[in-house]
Formats: sequence, structure tokens, C-alpha cells
Amino acid sequence: MDEERVKRMVNRERNARKESERLLEQKSSELYEINQNLEQLVTERTEKLTTALNNANIAMKTKDDFVSNMSHEIRTPLNAIMGFVEVMQSSEYEEEAFSNYLNIINDSSETLLKIINDILDFSKLQSGQFKISPIDVNLRDKLQHVYSLFSKIATEKEVSFLINFSNDFPKLLVVDDIRITQIVSNFVSNALKFTPKNGTVSIQVLYEHERSTLILKVIDTGIGIKKEAQATIFNSFEQEDRTVTREYGGTGLGLAIAKQLVELMSGEVIFKSIPQKGSVFGFEMPLTVAIEKKQLKSNKKRNLVSFTGTILVAEDNEVNILLISIVLEQLFVSFEVVENGLLAISAVKNNNYALVLMDNQMPKMSGKDATLEIRKFNKKIPIVALSANALKTEKEEFLEVGMNDVLSKPINKTELLEILEKYK
Ligand code: ADP
Repeated sequence: MDEERVKRMVNRERNARKESERLLEQKSSELYEINQNLEQLVTERTEKLTTALNNANIAMKTKDDFVSNMSHEIRTPLNAIMGFVEVMQSSEYEEEAFSNYLNIINDSSETLLKIINDILDFSKLQSGQFKISPIDVNLRDKLQHVYSLFSKIATEKEVSFLINFSNDFPKLLVVDDIRITQIVSNFVSNALKFTPKNGTVSIQVLYEHERSTLILKVIDTGIGIKKEAQATIFNSFEQEDRTVTREYGGTGLGLAIAKQLVELMSGEVIFKSIPQKGSVFGFEMPLTVAIEKKQLKSNKKRNLVSFTGTILVAEDNEVNILLISIVLEQLFVSFEVVENGLLAISAVKNNNYALVLMDNQMPKMSGKDATLEIRKFNKKIPIVALSANALKTEKEEFLEVGMNDVLSKPINKTELLEILEKYK
């Protein structure tokens, strides 16, 4: 009997041990699985982190390259300006070289201004503050103008340069012509830059009436763009590669700005390139045809200033005062200068000016505040803002406080003449 009991006990114990061994095995295989999963998770996370880190490094490197390239781009024209001004101050140069030096200084200043405008446009586009202002415009005339501006460079480079319009191209389209010319100028300037001697650059402009769509292409027979670089060529800061940058210069912002502008105007970019053969840069954009209005005024001859009366110039910066004084003297227009907003108010109160040219950033009182004050007692006098950064949003602010127009600095004679003609 006892023996039976012992046997049963032994059996039970054996079974219990087996069960616990089975459980142990099951648990350890579960543990093994968990461990495997964990390891996989860790590997995946590490991979993700490494990719993120690499991407961040690449982004940082791209930005670094951009900043150092930008600084190079800004320094180059600036060095030319400073260098040639110094040469001219030394008066140890041949008289004949004078206009050549002036041209270099002029070209370098324009390059510098273009870079700064690009940076401003780019940051405005990034923050979504860019506004498009469509007007009724003769786009053909505007594009012909772009063409003639670039013709000189084409001739110098011995590149044949053409422009073509479709037969029934509309006289007037509703479009922001400034932005269209900016985009086309960028495409054309690149095409001429990357097309060697004896090549061809052609601007093809077509209006599809059925779809109310403008199709514009700038076609070149230049160096083209490598396949690997084609996907990123419209990204900001990107250039094909560093060798291109070294050889041709440039900030790498132009195409990024052009693409964003095209898209802001509900258009789509056209791009094709074959290395060593050439490239096509362009866009398709829905645009409506404007109805022609009868011109009321006869076409007056421009360029002759028939502006009488005295202008009040409110500006505090000495260099700007000198510059605007020279331009106004050349145009035989009489003017007086005050150096802050407060003085501008009392000058307008006590005199009878025909026009005020008003800087905004002045000591004591800004141009905008001064205008608000002037408008309380004089609603009629035309006030034209002198703006250093010519941003669209800023222009609206000037108009809101009661100014009539905006002139961008540095003062450009043609634009000033237009203003004088308008408010004479
Ligand atoms: P950048 O001011 O540097 O020219 P862009 O954004 O206008 O800046 O152009 C970026 C890059 O695209 C150029 O540096 C060049 O590598 C390439 N690229 C643009 N247009 C052309 C073209 N027509 N032919 C060949 N390469 C071009």
C-alpha cells in the first residue's frame, strides 16, 4: 500500500517537474522571441536615427555650403566695387580707362542688388508672404524688353538669341508682369550662362486660346544638366555641383524662386535637359485675356521733364541725399531737403510743395508716421515713399498710411521720371 503511495507521489512529482520544465522551455522561447523583437526594434531605431542624423548633416552641409557660397557671391562684386573705387581715388589711371571702371562698378552693384533681392524674395516666399498682383499688361512688349536687355550678352558671347511669339498672341493678358519677367530673366540668364559660343538660346512664347494658357519655353543648346542632378535642380540652395559653382558662380536660389513664383501663379514648371545637348526651362500658366480699353490720353513724349514746382525730400542718409540731389539737379527740378519726419511735417505745413519724396526709416519720426500726420491737414499733396527693400507687403503699408506711390532705392532716373510725369 505504502509502496503504491510512494509510486504515485514519485509520478506526481515527475509530472510536476515535466510540467515546470515544459513551462520553463515555453517561457524561455517566449523570452527569446521578445529578445529577438527587441533587437530588431533597436536595429530599426538605430537605422532611423542614423538616417535622420545623416540627413541633418547633409542639410547642415548644404546650408553651410550655401552660406559660404553666398558670402563668396556677395564679396566678389563688393571687392570689385571697393577695388575700382580705390583705383579711381588714386588718380593714377589712364583717362580712357575711366568709363570702363565705372561700368565695372555699375555692373558689380547691379549684381549685388540682384543677390540681395533674391535673398529677400526667397525668404518672403518661404514665409508665404509673397503677393502676386495681376494687371492688364502687354506681355509681348515686356518679354521683348527682357529679350533686348539680354541681347548684348548674347552678342558678346557669340550665342545666337531668338524670341518667337505664336501668331495670335493676345495684346493684353491679366498677369503680374514683374514676376513673369523675373522668372523669364532667370531662365534666360542661366541659358546664356551655360551655352557656349556658337550655341543657340531661344525664347518660345505661345498662347493657347482654347485652354486660356500661356506656354513659355527657354530652349538652349548648352552644357545641359547631369541626370543625377536633375531631380534637385529646383530645390533651394542647390546647384548641379561644386565644380559648376566654381566655374560659373551663382547663388542657387534663382530656379527655386522661379518655381515657387510659377506655382503661386497657378502654373507648372516645364523642365527637360540632356547632358552636353541642352536644356528647356519654362512654364505653363492659366491666364485670361484682358479686354482692351480705349486710351483716353494721347501718347505723350516721355523723358522730357515738365515738372514745375518744388519737391520736398525727407531723407536722413547723407549718401542718399547726395544721390537724389544729383539726379534732381540733372533733371532741373527744384527741391528742398529735411532730415526727419517731424521736420517734414512742419515743412509741408509752411510751404507749398508739389510733391514729397519720403524715406521711411528716419530719426525722430518715421516716414509713415509723418505721412499719417500730414494727411490730417493735407489730403492732396502727393507723397511718394523711398523704400530700400521694395517689398510688396511694405508697399501696401505705405499706401495704407496715405502715401501715393513707392520708389525703390537706389533711385533710378527712369522710375523717378515716371513719378514726376504722373504727379506734375
Ligand atoms: P544660380 O544663380 O546658381 O545659377 P539657379 O537656381 O538659377 O542658380 O540655377 C541652379 C543651377 O542649375 C545652376 O548652378 C546650374 O548648375 C543649373 N542650371 C540652371 N539652368 C541651366 C541651364 N540652362 N543649363 C545648364 N545648367 C543649368
